Amino acid sequence: MADEQGMNRRNFLRNTVLGGAGVSLMGTPIWEAAAQMVNQPVNGVGLDDPLLVQLSINENPLGASHRAIEAVASKMFGMNRYTMHNELEEALAAHHGVDPESVFTGVGSSEILLAVTLAAFWNNPGNTVTAFPSYRSIPRTTEELGQAVKRVSLTGDWQMDLDAMAAAVDENTRIVSICNPNNPTGQILDPAALERTIRAMPNDVIVCVDEAYIQFVDDPDYPSMVSLTKDVENLLVSRTFSKAYGLGGMRVGYGVAHPALLERMQRFSIGLLNKNTLSTVAAMAALDDQDHVRRTLEITRQGKAFLYEELEAMGYSPLRTQTIFVTVEVGPNVQTLIDRLWEKKVQVRQAFDMEGFMRISVGLPRENEAFISAFKRERSAL
Ligand code: PLP
Repeated sequence: MADEQGMNRRNFLRNTVLGGAGVSLMGTPIWEAAAQMVNQPVNGVGLDDPLLVQLSINENPLGASHRAIEAVASKMFGMNRYTMHNELEEALAAHHGVDPESVFTGVGSSEILLAVTLAAFWNNPGNTVTAFPSYRSIPRTTEELGQAVKRVSLTGDWQMDLDAMAAAVDENTRIVSICNPNNPTGQILDPAALERTIRAMPNDVIVCVDEAYIQFVDDPDYPSMVSLTKDVENLLVSRTFSKAYGLGGMRVGYGVAHPALLERMQRFSIGLLNKNTLSTVAAMAALDDQDHVRRTLEITRQGKAFLYEELEAMGYSPLRTQTIFVTVEVGPNVQTLIDRLWEKKVQVRQAFDMEGFMRISVGLPRENEAFISAFKRERSAL
């Protein structure tokens, strides 16, 4: 009976969801399969507007792993069910070689960054130390809570100044926010210097290392700070399924830290009830498909090489980034250019807090080409 039911579901999936058109998610690139499923041209995976070239929010150009899509398809009959288990935490713990009690999953890593900031300032007013420019999540929440932010400027070549950040820590500092690789510069820290800085922080200051883009670092042996959480009790490392794993819309991220620090943060989470049944199976399947991550890194590497070459041929000097985006100084007309590109349905953005700089997420080859040709036209029309 169970078998029969399983078979019926499989037939249902094949005939209904895939439209009986012989679409196989295993064999066909995901975006092409998706295009066939919705029976219309799709420019970029799963965009509602097929004409839009969306290069402003650092999404995975390949889309999700086919295994994640299949996991969601096969679980969709169970969307009436809550997820009352910790299987994702267990899988992540095994993946990173830490205890399951050291892993806290959230609605994107945004929930992790929010929870740690709330935990840091709960009954404990003070300040946040952050690099500038850098990702804004923790400083923004800090200011929303009415607390102070100490912004430590990057060096002239866009590197984070860890010594100056350590020197900015005072007796009122509650959290130090370190985004590595950094957004919007795409630069990375020397891992030995980072580890030294983390170890030297006072025990009552939370150090949050945001590793949203760490898979994109050129050196495959570049170390994560996750293993350091085993002996540094005030360290939190945040990670996300939104970038290398291609699950931005599923909203899954996680933090790794000592259980005592996670317990402080859990007070600000809705706990087990933050789990989305379909997102959880998608994340577990995505974690299991490291080949998809490798393909993502390869297409990103090729896309960046193309964008660098084209931008340099036009006389620009894009920063060499270790992320899924390219950051380039285009001058004081940056917003006008962005607006004009938007009119042509090519969406990029200003690199926040970097005057005159544009940030372009790496897309599929045809999307990168669309950006370059629209950019060439619009800059010469200025
Ligand atoms: N951290 C960094 C550096 C990011 O760039 C982003 C999103 O772009 C996030 C965290 C939050 O992502 P999510 O909530 O999708 O995990």
